Amino acid sequence: MIDIPSPESTADAFADRYGRRPDGVWSAPGRVNLIGEHTDYNDGLVFPFAIERRTWAAVGRREDRLLTVHSGAMPEPAQASLDSLNPEDFDGWSAYVFGVLWAMEQRGVDLAGRTGFDVMLASDVPLGAGLSSSAAIECAVASAVNDEWELGLSRRDLITICQLAENGAVGAPTGNMDQTASLMGKAGHGVLIDVRAETAEPVPLHFADEHLELLVIDTRVHHEHATGGYGARRRSCELGAQLMGVGSLRDLDEADLPRAAEVLDDETFRRVRHVITENARVARTAQVVAADGPRAIGDLLVASHASMRDDFEISVPELDLAVETALANGAIGARMTGGGFGGAAIALLDADRAEEVGGAIQAAFAAAELTAPIVFVVSPSDGAHRDL
Ligand code: ADP
Ligand code: MG
Repeated sequence: MIDIPSPESTADAFADRYGRRPDGVWSAPGRVNLIGEHTDYNDGLVFPFAIERRTWAAVGRREDRLLTVHSGAMPEPAQASLDSLNPEDFDGWSAYVFGVLWAMEQRGVDLAGRTGFDVMLASDVPLGAGLSSSAAIECAVASAVNDEWELGLSRRDLITICQLAENGAVGAPTGNMDQTASLMGKAGHGVLIDVRAETAEPVPLHFADEHLELLVIDTRVHHEHATGGYGARRRSCELGAQLMGVGSLRDLDEADLPRAAEVLDDETFRRVRHVITENARVARTAQVVAADGPRAIGDLLVASHASMRDDFEISVPELDLAVETALANGAIGARMTGGGFGGAAIALLDADRAEEVGGAIQAAFAAAELTAPIVFVVSPSDGAHRDL
């Protein structure tokens, strides 16, 4: 049996480990991105929502300057000191935790005279599956520290700090979509993010009203964003913007595509075309869901997947198979979600078809002799908060 963590069980695990009750428990959710992939670091539009799967952080102040972290997901604890927070010393997963403290210091939080923490983490966000366990851990820790130290930082400040932790301490060159969704999520709503305008607007999705569910298919093909294809795609976008003479790809729209085809090499052109058309699809999705409801967004999801598969080339056979099988079995729309090179796909479907579609996907993976995916339903949920 798998134990699903809760605020209470995380507090109990803290007490077992540290021999006292925590001061409190905070949590932050993972997210799925409904649409808008690799647009965030191009100053563009994204439309994720926070999910019910969360990371809980039970936190208790210490008398000294040390930070100790245990995670239910990891065999070994980690330790750092507020006297010498240096990303080069952070090892592996603990960089997501200590990186938040480091980023706070970088953003002007004075660490002098403050005391450290003991932290116990528990999560039911699958790690490295494209559901942003990384933002969940960062935002849970940042929310806890903000309250414990009474810093009074706004959610917008916390977004910036958590993104800096991921970029500067972990070394993953990601945008701020994940942290924004995790901190600004609202039950029943998507979060329409305009990265350039620094706005994050809740948009009702009406999935439950329309008896729809969103299925996540975790292919269990793992990705590392700190290395590999994610950074390469990011550099292609920077090159494309530079060659097109604009500050970022957000400055371009579909009318610029003919010129882009002339100026850019074929690969860079296709990368740029993905970002331009994806921004347009995000804007359209938000309009369509408001005007015609969620059943009308299926084609946009499918077009997004095709663009990632063919133009941005970040899909993998497992993701394509999940999407194709979902669509062949009556899903309204489906696409890979997250940064790509593995991770998860999503499928929007009638609630009463979820089991059948899940079964068809399992069967298709078995027939292709692929590792069995993990299939589950998510619904739009609240962002980071204090639980206990
Ligand atoms: P994703 O955000 O899609 O899950 P990332 O590669 O961005 O994938 O982040 C996953 C990494 O974050 C893990 O490999 C681990 O280092 C760290 N992490 C996330 N959640 C936890 C947790 N609960 N405990 C320890 N480390 C975690
Ligand atoms: Mg991540």
